[in-house]
Amino acid sequence: MTNLYRRFDATFRSHADKVLIESGGRLVTGRQLDDAAARYAAVLRDAGLKPGDRLAVQVEKSLENVFVYLGCLRLGAIYMPLNTAYQPAEISYFLGDATPRVLVCAPEKRAVLESIASAAGVATLLTLGVAGDGDLVERAARAQPFADVCDCEDDDLAVICYTSGTTGRSKGAMITHNNLISNATTLVDLWAFTDHDVLLHALPLYHIHGLFVALHCAFFSGAKILLLPKFDGQVLDALAKSTVMMGVPTFYTRLLADPRLDREHVKSVRLFVSGSAPLLPDTFAEFEARTGHRILERYGMTETQMISSNPLHGDRHPGTVGLPLPGVEVRIADEHGLAVPIDEIGVIEVRGPNVCKGYWQMPAKTKAEIRPDGFFITGDLGMMEPDGYIRIVGRAKDLIISGGLNVYPKEIEEAIDALPGVAESAVFGVAHPDFGEVVMAAVVVKPGASVTEAGLTATLREQLAAFKTPKKIFLMPELPRNAMSKVQKAVLRQQFGDTYTRPRG
Ligand code: AMP
Repeated sequence: MTNLYRRFDATFRSHADKVLIESGGRLVTGRQLDDAAARYAAVLRDAGLKPGDRLAVQVEKSLENVFVYLGCLRLGAIYMPLNTAYQPAEISYFLGDATPRVLVCAPEKRAVLESIASAAGVATLLTLGVAGDGDLVERAARAQPFADVCDCEDDDLAVICYTSGTTGRSKGAMITHNNLISNATTLVDLWAFTDHDVLLHALPLYHIHGLFVALHCAFFSGAKILLLPKFDGQVLDALAKSTVMMGVPTFYTRLLADPRLDREHVKSVRLFVSGSAPLLPDTFAEFEARTGHRILERYGMTETQMISSNPLHGDRHPGTVGLPLPGVEVRIADEHGLAVPIDEIGVIEVRGPNVCKGYWQMPAKTKAEIRPDGFFITGDLGMMEPDGYIRIVGRAKDLIISGGLNVYPKEIEEAIDALPGVAESAVFGVAHPDFGEVVMAAVVVKPGASVTEAGLTATLREQLAAFKTPKKIFLMPELPRNAMSKVQKAVLRQQFGDTYTRPRG
């Protein structure tokens, strides 16, 4: 029967005079966080937001963005973060689907979004800019704080998070207060967060990694957050004042590209966490060689929060996402949901208090993805090693079936990445008139290396069965990735998809 905010509130009260967030020279104590949450809650309530209503938010990362999230929770309303990259046509879909009562956007987007919002029945549009500008901020400064915290049932929705929706319509995962409370409680314990920690936060706030995993670990433990607007040159300096960093794999490759990164620079850090996309074993090894730190890789998704983690104490296995979290069950299953033997590939399915309630207004999709026994079908393919560590081999939808034979992209990517001169690769399937699908690869070459498509193909032919060897290799300056570091294979499939099916002549 707990509103997630009450858990934050307990920390804000017990750390009333401690700085809990530092952002661009601004210091915010526990007492000030509670006051800001109460002021933003008052403005949102006056804008018509009631418990159970949705609040859509598309703003650049800022301290005030955190206040809006806290104010929304406090009111018992449902927070709905929107990726800043979404264009008006996409916003129109989200507003039409979730019918939020209030929309918060950047001041410069007001003109474009106003008509879209009113067409979707949004009652109030408020603005919030990165420079602390916007009418929401002005109103909050004058507001009479809303001192209450609305009661919630465990099962009430706290957040609707739209999945990135690379296939079909984007779905709104319905995330409850209890989903978030249970996951944060587990992670704080597992990763031993305390109020002596200083968390470097350079992730976006519209995605679960930055919004939930990072913020909640700090708000549950009283750790201080160094809130940076994004990953940039400031990160290395901020690391010198931090004890924990949470990042996506590209944070680590970018840090490695900076010659200043060494043991001395990160001597205060006790833990580096990586997630949201696969961390290459090479990156793991290079990072360890440069800093002495073995990056802790964990795995999760919007619908399930965090699922598994390499251990804090104990062996972290590169290329794996570790062991299921306490209280979270994982099974590797066939298409009927029956567990496959150890070391065999199947779909990763998850059950526990972390699994969301389903998809907003999509009962059929909810039924298709959450089995009657409560297991959620992640759509990730993986295997369980004999020691219980989980290894992800790719998304089920990225599986390539060539001439009736399964090809797991990860296996081919590992073979390509091991070749001299290769920085990284992405393997994907395209339609082929004879084989149904064939294997293709996009490869990024290390600076200065002389690598050719023919040379790579010749070597791979000696190592891989013919049906697994890429039919074509495209050398590219970089792989298409989204802000969370995920390689966008759909973009590659779109770019090269008609290589063998293009009408000739
Ligand atoms: P999202 O819902 O945007 O957080 O995306 C979730 C997806 O990201 C998962 O289903 C996985 O495919 C992928 N993912 C998250 N963490 C990892 C990881 N450590 N290794 C590989 N893939 C990951």
